[in-house]
Amino acid sequence: MSEPLVIIGNGMAATRLVDGLTTLAPGRYAIAVVGEEPSLAYNRVLLSSVLAREVEAKDIELKTAAWWRDRGVTLVYGRRAVEIDTRARFVRLRGGAKLGYAKLVVATGSEAVRLPLAGADLPGVVTFRDKADVNTILSRARPGARWRA
Ligand SMILES: Cc1cc2nc3c(=O)[nH]c(=O)nc-3n(C[C@H](O)[C@H](O)[C@H](O)COP(=O)(O)OP(=O)(O)OC[C@H]3O[C@@H](n4cnc5c(N)ncnc54)[C@H](O)[C@@H]3O)c2cc1C
Repeated sequence: MSEPLVIIGNGMAATRLVDGLTTLAPGRYAIAVVGEEPSLAYNRVLLSSVLAREVEAKDIELKTAAWWRDRGVTLVYGRRAVEIDTRARFVRLRGGAKLGYAKLVVATGSEAVRLPLAGADLPGVVTFRDKADVNTILSRARPGARWRA
């Protein structure tokens, strides 16, 4: 019987791990991947190319929905993991749902650093870390545009 494996984080590391596990040990784990971003995992390095309008956001997805489905992976994206109970072995998602696990991997990457300067948290000061940031920059930061929160 497959062991339940939960991976928190739906980024490049999680994708590589699922690729490896399902190639080397197919069927050994029943895998669920929880991702806060509301999209399939993508190549974050190529966000610069999306920002430069050289490629579409869809083009930088690492794997297709069919790829994940064919490997039997349960994708829970657009949901943040908010609690890990290591005693009872479950992960709680925002909204209350619980995912039980036998094995747990935390692959949550990092967050963009904000400079500790006055004004760094003003609405017009944005980070460049994910697709949402790129959308914000593309939609609001045009030559001559004025910021409106
Ligand atoms: C614009 C840009 C350019 C870059 N260029 C390069 C480069 O040229 N070379 C290079 O080596 N690296 C580059 N990097 C860094 C590289 O993208 C990261 O090192 C890499 O994405 C890390 O992969 P990861 O899977 O560990 O984490 P991430 O890609 O950060 O993925 C982690 C995921 O976990 C999710 N997550 C976090 N907390 C939770 C939670 N509690 N519940 C659910 N989900 C959660 C996040 O939303 C995120 O989607 C670049 C990064 C950026 C932003």
